[in-house]
Amino acid sequence: MNIAIDGPAGAGKSTVAQKVAGRLEFVYIDTGSMYRALAWAVLHNGVPVDDEQAVSDLLQNNTIELQRVNSVQRVLWNGRDITEEIRTPEVSQYASIVASYGSVRRQMLVLQRKMAEQGNVVMDGRDIGTHVLPDAEVKIFLTASIRERAERRLKELLAKGHVTDLETLEAEIAERDKRDMERDVAPLRQAEDAVLVDTTGLSIDQVVDRILQICELNG
Ligand code: C5P
Repeated sequence: MNIAIDGPAGAGKSTVAQKVAGRLEFVYIDTGSMYRALAWAVLHNGVPVDDEQAVSDLLQNNTIELQRVNSVQRVLWNGRDITEEIRTPEVSQYASIVASYGSVRRQMLVLQRKMAEQGNVVMDGRDIGTHVLPDAEVKIFLTASIRERAERRLKELLAKGHVTDLETLEAEIAERDKRDMERDVAPLRQAEDAVLVDTTGLSIDQVVDRILQICELNG
């Protein structure tokens, strides 16, 4: 059985997906971290982000690996651990730009399907239910009000020592959602057979329980 969890930025996908995977003893795959890794490499190597060919070549000629260390997913670019470095607001914005390129998405699709080949994965992203794993047995579309999503991000970033505020984050999230929903290739949208879960006002455990219930009904 495979579980696809999609939704807009800050809906709590990774926290929830990780817990669901833990409870079911499934493998957790965070596809956003792969776009973030490429975005980090674009910034790190001074590649012009508006040059699709250059960005696509960068992905083609380097490696992204996801590893599980002490139940935490680590992200490696050519073997270098960049797990912490990909969580900045700048990388978030760049990730949604590189994710709009068809030639980048085609390569990511191949990598992601390969990762899910063995089955029993919980994969989260924007296009998992619609493109990457259209045959997933369970599809969830996770969302929450933009205010709540910005508040959650604010807590995360402040805890890591970043300086920002709610209004800035709300604007950044809205910009990223718009770009993700309006791109031509595999835009963010709810798959027809996905179950909508609105997490506004719900605790993480409540959301996890709801998803596990849905898995029991569909699995
Ligand atoms: O989920 P996360 O916020 O880490 O994703 C970063 C960016 O990567 C998203 O804003 C989106 O543009 C892109 N993404 C995507 N498709 C996925 C996962 C992430 O386009 N499956």
